[in-house]
Amino acid sequence: MKINITPVKQSKINSVDMKHLTFGDVFSDHMLIMDYKNGQWQDPQIVPYGEISISPAICSLHYGQVIFEGIKAFYSKQGKINIFRPQKYHERMNRSCRRLCIPEISYDVFLNCLLELIKLEKAWVPRQRGYSLYIRPFIFATDNHIGVRVSHTYRFMIILSPVESYYKEGLNPVRLITSGEYVRATKGGLGAAKTPANYAASLLPADEAQKKGFTQVLWLDAVTHKNIEEVGTMNICFVINNELVTPPLDGSILEGTTRDSVLKLAREWGIKVNERPITIDELFTASKAGKLNEVFGTGTAAVISPVGEIKHQESSIIVNEGKIGALSQKFYDEVTAIQYGEKPDKFDWIVTI
Ligand SMILES: *Cc1c(COP(=O)(O)O)cnc(C)c1O
Repeated sequence: MKINITPVKQSKINSVDMKHLTFGDVFSDHMLIMDYKNGQWQDPQIVPYGEISISPAICSLHYGQVIFEGIKAFYSKQGKINIFRPQKYHERMNRSCRRLCIPEISYDVFLNCLLELIKLEKAWVPRQRGYSLYIRPFIFATDNHIGVRVSHTYRFMIILSPVESYYKEGLNPVRLITSGEYVRATKGGLGAAKTPANYAASLLPADEAQKKGFTQVLWLDAVTHKNIEEVGTMNICFVINNELVTPPLDGSILEGTTRDSVLKLAREWGIKVNERPITIDELFTASKAGKLNEVFGTGTAAVISPVGEIKHQESSIIVNEGKIGALSQKFYDEVTAIQYGEKPDKFDWIVTI
């Protein structure tokens, strides 16, 4: 599919301080737009980044027929641009599409859109180690109709945001708290899709957790309130007795690409990996018995986010004295080294420009 490009008259990059970039505030010069109508995706265009006009009756605004992705590109040691696992993110995007009744996009078309946009925006990939270009593809339903039904038309967009290192002061452990009242997702619901509704459900509990001094909520399953699920922006992993334990992908948690990368590395390194249900009680028991070595979240934004404390009801556990564990650090170092082209890409994760 040919992509029509309307370039900006003048890049705004010189007005941006590329060394001080807060997450998600700065966008590159261009964006990609592709519409779905008459039963097909058509006419992709790259245009200057800017506002788009929509009807107040646009159905996605009313009923949330929307999905998104979050991918990263890195400026490599070789002076190239490394996109991390675009195929894996694309597979998940199409899975989210299926759950939300949104027409899928083929990998060829998706990758072509992504590559053309990033080629044009090369200057927006920050050069410093630790920094990256955050890629946000998303699709929303565009029928102007306020009856509840599946839309007939859609818009796919990609916007790009240069971001600085998540950890300017090293990998600082986060504090998590469970919620006795709220749930994020339930089996059969939308939990396995990357869709705004899951975030909408988490805003109030996350806000309450922050008011109590915690970073994020550790979600338990909606039915028994016992099984640990994920953190809502990150999947969660435990090192118990030197075994890597993480909740299985059973329909209510998101299949993280970083989770998959960590599990692949662990298996390669000969670490025992166990994807199985784990209850909050088992976790606290393991901690009291001195068998809980490490806890960390996995997600594209932070890669590895060490967890220093977990509170559940009236009790708390402190993990690894509130410091990052050796294995968490090793995963972080390995994944980032592959992303920046400092170590061989033996799993074929990188697409290079
Ligand atoms: C995006 C996301 C994650 C992390 O997935 P990655 O592919 O590793 O970035 C975890 N949980 C939820 C709910 C998410 O939306």
